[in-house]
Amino acid sequence: MTSSPEGVDRLLERFASSPLAPIARKVAGKERLSFEDGLALFATRDLHGLFALANFDRERRHGNAGYYNVNRYLNPTNLCWVDCGLCAWARRPGVEGGYTMAVEEAVSEAASGWHDGVTELHIVGGLHPTLPYSYYVDLMSALRSRFPGVHLKAWTMVELDWIARVGKKTVAEAIADLKAAGMDSCPGGGAEIFEKRVRNVICANKITGEEWLQIARECHRQGVKTNVTMLYGSVETAADRVDHLVRIREMQDETGGFLGFIPLAFHPEGTQFPHLLAAGGLEDLRVIAVSRLMLDNLDHVKAYWVQIGEKLAEVALQTGADDLVGTVTEETITHAAGARTETGLSRLQMEKLIRDSGREPFERDAFYERVVRDPDGRVLRANRHDFTATGRIAAPPAGLPSHSSEIDPAIASS
Ligand code: SF4
Repeated sequence: MTSSPEGVDRLLERFASSPLAPIARKVAGKERLSFEDGLALFATRDLHGLFALANFDRERRHGNAGYYNVNRYLNPTNLCWVDCGLCAWARRPGVEGGYTMAVEEAVSEAASGWHDGVTELHIVGGLHPTLPYSYYVDLMSALRSRFPGVHLKAWTMVELDWIARVGKKTVAEAIADLKAAGMDSCPGGGAEIFEKRVRNVICANKITGEEWLQIARECHRQGVKTNVTMLYGSVETAADRVDHLVRIREMQDETGGFLGFIPLAFHPEGTQFPHLLAAGGLEDLRVIAVSRLMLDNLDHVKAYWVQIGEKLAEVALQTGADDLVGTVTEETITHAAGARTETGLSRLQMEKLIRDSGREPFERDAFYERVVRDPDGRVLRANRHDFTATGRIAAPPAGLPSHSSEIDPAIASS
């Protein structure tokens, strides 16, 4: 069904005798859905109807585009004092398997293992108990100087709160310092479910939902766009999910600072809740579809293939999602919790996946603008940065371990 007048007519016809008819009329008329509508969508047994509505909305926004970007994950430390029940990845200090990269090591790690020209580094880690404030600022500066045209999407709201506390700064001061050092935008992790009762179970020591939103508000005020997530499939109710989505929507009304929404499926393996059963595929798709319909002021709803699997992510592009996040080189966090997916896809694999879903691949940069590559795949333009103007030098700066043969020359040299 297209969003043309005939498409709208067909949509309404399809729902004429359905309990979802009032919601379908709102969707057709671009009217905001209520809290009760959200509950109804989480409860409906008409999944085909739900998916049709979400797909209608998705196609009205994005046509046939299936977005992705070429990104690499960088996790500078997995040491964390917070001890969230939901987390299988972090290690408490002194426990086997913990690590921390020095700034130079992190830069070297960021430079390694690139199969395609990376246009974005996604940087998150644990709340390290002793790293100084300067570490975070220096890491941003070092990455910015090493990879000038690569978008640095760094630090969740939870980490920004901790970095500020470590530096005895206000959150506003910490954001300003990190932004000046190179931070371009922020990932959306740590939002979990905003409702306190749920947070008390799954992440009791983490900042509250209100604090998370307040820090996002400050990022947006300073012109730093952020993403936002929702962790589903632990101990939350449908009402908790709808409440979470409504709070995101309210914040977006206020600031317009969210780039995209990523529903994250809870993976119980290795967490403090191994007895919980992970959400099934239809539930994954339902969350994506309801999110698409509730978040009327947020452009992009992502299907995170690492968590829900490549095949289901393919389907999700037909049930509300428009973006598969990225190629995600070196993902470790969800894999620590039992994900069986690859730890990274090539650009070719990603484009095949999107084509197989019936969509047209659109390699985007951090601002959802098209990445331009030459016939050999080297990046010519991304993140409002023109690589053709900078020339290409293959050698890494002196003093850094050489991974130049693994780095796309267009990125390595600019
Ligand atoms: S979820 Fe984040 S804050 Fe919580 S233990 Fe894991 S790394 Fe630490």
